[in-house]
Amino acid sequence: MVGSRSIRRLIAPVGALAALVFAAPAMAQAPAVTVEQGDGFATVSWSEVAGATEYEIERAPASAAEAGVVVGRWLPTRYRTGELTFADSGFVLGESYRWRVRALVGGAARDWSAPVTQDTLEQVGPDGFLTGFERSGATAFTSHEDEVELVEAIGRASRRVAVQTIGHTLQGRPLQLATVSTSDRGRGKRGHKPKVLILCTVHGGERAPREACMITLRRLAFSHDRWVARILSRSDVLIVPTVNPDGQAIAERTNSTGQDLNRDHILIRHPESYAVSKVIRDHRPNLIIDGHELGTGADLSLLWSRSPNVGEELWSLAQNHMTWGWIFGTAAAAGWSTAQYPTDRLDNWESMMQNTAGLKNAVGQLQESPQNSGPMRPNAPTGSPQTIRRRVYSHVWGFAEHLEYHHRNLRAIEEAIEDAEEDNEDNRGPIYLDGGRDVPVTPPSQYPITKVLDPAPCGYRLMPEQMQVRAGNAPGTEPVWTSETVARRLAAHGIEVESVGGVAYDVELGQRLRPLIPYVLDPELESPGRPLGLPNISMVRAQRLDDRRATVIVGDRDSGVPNRTDRIGCSINDRITDEQPWTSRRAFLRHIDRVLDEARDKRLIDRWAADRIEGAAERSGIGS
Ligand SMILES: [Zn+2]
Repeated sequence: MVGSRSIRRLIAPVGALAALVFAAPAMAQAPAVTVEQGDGFATVSWSEVAGATEYEIERAPASAAEAGVVVGRWLPTRYRTGELTFADSGFVLGESYRWRVRALVGGAARDWSAPVTQDTLEQVGPDGFLTGFERSGATAFTSHEDEVELVEAIGRASRRVAVQTIGHTLQGRPLQLATVSTSDRGRGKRGHKPKVLILCTVHGGERAPREACMITLRRLAFSHDRWVARILSRSDVLIVPTVNPDGQAIAERTNSTGQDLNRDHILIRHPESYAVSKVIRDHRPNLIIDGHELGTGADLSLLWSRSPNVGEELWSLAQNHMTWGWIFGTAAAAGWSTAQYPTDRLDNWESMMQNTAGLKNAVGQLQESPQNSGPMRPNAPTGSPQTIRRRVYSHVWGFAEHLEYHHRNLRAIEEAIEDAEEDNEDNRGPIYLDGGRDVPVTPPSQYPITKVLDPAPCGYRLMPEQMQVRAGNAPGTEPVWTSETVARRLAAHGIEVESVGGVAYDVELGQRLRPLIPYVLDPELESPGRPLGLPNISMVRAQRLDDRRATVIVGDRDSGVPNRTDRIGCSINDRITDEQPWTSRRAFLRHIDRVLDEARDKRLIDRWAADRIEGAAERSGIGS
């Protein structure tokens, strides 16, 4: 499903090319070339040469007398839809270059096109706020200290930006959140200004997205261009430039305990993931983009939430409308190759950010660029400034394009979120304990659903000692550390918990974060689809509330009253907490009174039935 706007965007350049082809009929052997400048890249487009099996894209400094070097090879596998485009990136921003393209027909090179000479765009934002990466000429990444200073300096200098420290790593480095906002007006459907959250470098060795996060922040903070004004007119943009500063400082994937933080967004045992969770809770972003790098692959690989617990519309919007229907098309028009992130069992680990985002009713997107050079990009060895620039600016483009998508499709996104949240609050539909929705990828990547709760339980019950669990790393591993308690971690997610007289804590499934809750609390998460089992996602094994006995029974006393179920699937028996160590008979009977009042309000029982249940409670001897 391709949005009509993206179709128009794809058609426009084709029209421009057709005009050029007519203007240059003598160059049948050589393509007609156009070049359009972007931020840190240039889109080179050309007309088709009959029989071409490959094209080469050459770049030279505008002033150079000699030929340039081939910076791009276009192969027929580059795009699904065959666009003749290439995003050239790797040049020095602000300098002038000339580009040429030639076809290869059956391996034989044909004539070069006429050269196109252009100035490239300067880096966006004032010179006083350059990153360490930019100052080094793309030979080094920005140091942690420079990043902290830069983000704070941007916060001081820009009226649009507020910088907060949202936590500290285990080694004491600050976790920074920059919020870009031009006004509180423009309230969205959901009662607050729509927000997009961009997270970078949760894997410390994947440093390019972090540079892109800082460059994007600087642009949003200072630029007066119309695009920035348009984006900020409807939404605030929240940026965490480095989710894993300890790992980033030494280019390590994990934090200092060896934990992969992108497998901790459900357990949130670590200060970094815990802090990010609170940001999501407090700001409820519509869209969360998580910037990563992989070894080799397309210029941009994307993946969204696959969990079957995520609202169907929300999932479909992320996959079919945003990624396949929009980004893949606009990327090809801009010259970036794209792919669905290679999927395997791990991809559906619900605790990866793009999945957790979906479980929290946001549109989630994993965005990866390759660290290595590849056959499509000759003369840009791995680790060279050319390749590092391409890694950074492909992320800059990806972030901007997701902001554009969010801006243009705000209504559809907010409706999908609102529908998902309404269904969640009604505890509607089955609960899936594993598996993933099929994604349109070849070869197929199926992740079978083997555990379904249908009807869904009413919720989960925790014992007071379970609320205090601080389980850190897996048993027997070093170093030993402890996390926040389960009570505080549930609160950091925003999961609503109700105390039952202090003897138990109930978590109803009929709430906004319903899709997430089973993965946090269900006692049966091990399955063939999740071979590593607990404690990869669940915090504690809570008790499932799904008492569907025919009559209301208190302790071992049968009241004979039908055990009716309310609108959100909770039976009267589910509401009665009678297996816990009540130490006071009065407190227990007060609890029963509250349950019965509520059941009468919901017209599940009448006064006669309430008396029968109260009698059973008195005879049960619980609390005495
Ligand atoms: Zn990664």
